[in-house]
Amino acid sequence: QETINKIAAGEVVERPLNVVKELVENSLDAFASSLTVEIEEAGKRLIRVSDNGLGMDKKDLKLSILRHATSKIDDFSDLLHIHSLGFRGEALASIAAVSSFEIKTRKKSENSGWKLSAIGGKDIKVIPWSGMEGTITEVKSLFFNTPARQKFLKSDFTERSKIINSLEGTALANHDVFFKMLSENKTVFSAAQTDNKIERIADVLGKDFAKTLKNIKIDHPKISLDVYFTGRDDSLPNRKYQYLFVNSRPVNYPKWLTRCVYQSYKESVPRDKHPGILIYTSIDPSKIDVNIHPAKKEVKFADENGIYDILFKALRNALMSHAH
Ligand code: ADP
Ligand code: MG
Repeated sequence: QETINKIAAGEVVERPLNVVKELVENSLDAFASSLTVEIEEAGKRLIRVSDNGLGMDKKDLKLSILRHATSKIDDFSDLLHIHSLGFRGEALASIAAVSSFEIKTRKKSENSGWKLSAIGGKDIKVIPWSGMEGTITEVKSLFFNTPARQKFLKSDFTERSKIINSLEGTALANHDVFFKMLSENKTVFSAAQTDNKIERIADVLGKDFAKTLKNIKIDHPKISLDVYFTGRDDSLPNRKYQYLFVNSRPVNYPKWLTRCVYQSYKESVPRDKHPGILIYTSIDPSKIDVNIHPAKKEVKFADENGIYDILFKALRNALMSHAH
């Protein structure tokens, strides 16, 4: 019930970031192996997400912008998969209602495709379209008909940073998908498909940072951890390079985990510096509880103390043995 209320609270599209997240989630749901996100004016003027996923036929396309039009089976075993906005099947309807909206799509193995357009959710038109298999969703003039929401937005710099940070997290969590992000027609990052997490980290966060990382893998009955972290000589001026992925989804650090990391680094990192650390974990979904907030994803682990000890010991050992 708690979770349901939190979801309902996030039902409206607040900012360009919400749109980007939902469109990217849809592309990943459609099994895209290649995904390009383009924004202009921090997403207010344009958000375009292009994928090579399953695509839609004419009927599905028409349904897609109607409320509760989800084609996805309810599967609450993957709680992390609950969308960041609204209930299932409401994202495109909510987005189309506050923008000039267009989807071009061609279903796999069909000869041609379709284009749907709408303005403020009205004047819906569907016409034939010939393009590649996959889907291109375009959101223009976001909030043109809701000036209150426009006014609520922060500076372009801030809105753009929110989008970039979020996409970096998604790209890091899905290294088997080609990701490209452009802002104002300039590439922000481009990441090739790989089975190697370090290669993905290099493409998204930079080669120089990736080179400084050490790795530990822990296979414990309680949890499996794959941790990439900076050593004592490579601490950073800010906390930007700290990521947590639970079952391949980016989530926020719980307080106790931040404490665990900083305790492990206690004598290794100067007081005003920060470690870079990316923690990838796989855990039985029944051992976690997910709380959805419109802006962030929080996970509660049933066995915080156990995981704290496992990670603390491993990090501590690794940092000691890497000391000169
Ligand atoms: P939900 O994702 O919860 O089902 P949405 O409003 O986000 O609801 O999307 C509505 C429907 O549109 C989806 O269920 C899916 O069938 C279809 N859809 C949206 N985006 C894509 C895409 N990129 N590729 C294929 N189908 C899509
Ligand atoms: Mg969706």
